[in-house]
Amino acid sequence: QLGISSSMTKQIPFFNYPSIFKEHGDEYANLMTDICSRGAYIMQQELLDFEKALAEYLGVKYAFGVGDGTMALIMGVRAAGLEPGSEIIVPSHTFVASAAAIHHAGCVPVLADCGPDHLVDGSDIAKRITKKTSAIMPVQLNGRVANMDPIEELCRIHDLKIIEDSCQALGAKFRGKFAGTFGAAGAFSFYPSKTLGCFGDGGAVVTNSDEVAEQIELMRDHGRNANGSVSLFGYNSRLDNVQAGVLLLKLREYGVQVEKRRSLAARYQKGLGDLSAVFLPPAPDAENEHFDIFQNYEIEADRRDDLRTYLADQGIGTILQWGGRVIHQFEELGLNQDVPRTEAMTHKFMLLPMNTSVSFEDVDYICEQIHNFYNK
Ligand SMILES: *Cc1c(COP(=O)(O)O)cnc(C)c1O
Repeated sequence: QLGISSSMTKQIPFFNYPSIFKEHGDEYANLMTDICSRGAYIMQQELLDFEKALAEYLGVKYAFGVGDGTMALIMGVRAAGLEPGSEIIVPSHTFVASAAAIHHAGCVPVLADCGPDHLVDGSDIAKRITKKTSAIMPVQLNGRVANMDPIEELCRIHDLKIIEDSCQALGAKFRGKFAGTFGAAGAFSFYPSKTLGCFGDGGAVVTNSDEVAEQIELMRDHGRNANGSVSLFGYNSRLDNVQAGVLLLKLREYGVQVEKRRSLAARYQKGLGDLSAVFLPPAPDAENEHFDIFQNYEIEADRRDDLRTYLADQGIGTILQWGGRVIHQFEELGLNQDVPRTEAMTHKFMLLPMNTSVSFEDVDYICEQIHNFYNK
C-alpha cells in the first residue's frame, strides 16, 4: 500500500489523562462551579453523600473520604489497634506505599512472595509468621482479590488482623465479597488513573467496625470530635469536597466502566491467548470465585524490553508498574529479600493499555503488533 508513513502510525497512549475529564467535561465544570459558588470546600454535603454512596456500593457500615490512598492505609493500620513494633506481612509485589503505611503506623513490614496471578500467596505468608506478627496486609493488585481462604484461615489460627490495600480493586470480589471488606479496614485510592479516579489525590477507608470507624473519623481531622475536643494525634487528611462531588458522579457510572474493562480483558485474552511467549492474567470468566475489575492488565513477556521498544515504535504506550521495581528491590529500605517468584516475575512483567479510553480496535491492533514482534 502506498503512502504508509510513521506519521500514520496509530497512537495509543498508555493512559489518556485529559480524557478522564473531557468525557463529561461540561458536567464536571458545572458541578465545580456549583460547589465552589457555595463555598463548600471542606467536609460538606458532597463528602457525606459520597461516603454514603460508597458504603452502600460496598455493603459496609462505614466509609470515610480521606486525602489519598496512602493516608487511608496509614490510618487503617493505626486504627486496627496493633501492638507498636509488631510485624505486618505484605507482598513485595506492590507499590512502596503499602509498606510505608505499615512503617508510619509504627509497625514493621515483612515481605511475602506472590503466586502466578501476581497476588500474595497464602502459603508463603504462612512461612513468614512469627510471634511478633500482628496482621496481614493483602494487596488486591491489578483489580483482583487474592485468594483470601488461606489468609483468613491463618488469621483465625494466629489471631491476626487484616488491613487490606484495596487501592487498585474497587468493585473486585472474591466469593462474592468486595475487596476492602475482609478485615479491620480497607483502603481505596482515587488517584486519577485508578479505576475510580478524581482530578487530583483522593482516598477512602472502609470498615464494618464501630471502633475502627470512630478512630478514622477523628484521625482524618486532627483528632477532633464534633465539639472540637482532641483525644488523639491525628492528621489533616480529608477528601476535598469538590473531589467528592466528582467521585459521586463517577460512582453512578462505575458499573459500566468495570464491564468495559472486563470486555477489554476478554479481547486481550482472545488476541493473545495462543501466544506462548506471553503469560496473561486470568481471563474475566476463568474462575467463578473471582470477579476482577482489571485496574491493570499485567502480563509477563519474553524479551520484554525489546517488545516494549517495538510497541513504542508502533505508537503503543506500555509501562512497568512502579518503574519496574518492587519493594524488596529498594535495598536502602532494609526489608527481607527472599521472594524468588516475585524477583523472577519482575524481569518479565509489564502493563498493556487498560482503561476506558481504549477501544476494541485498539486492543486488536496491540495484539496484532505483539504477534508481529514474536513472528519476526
Ligand atoms: C495507588 C496505590 C496506593 C496509594 O494510593 P495514593 O492515593 O496514590 O496514595 C497504595 N497501594 C497501591 C497498591 C496502589 O496502587
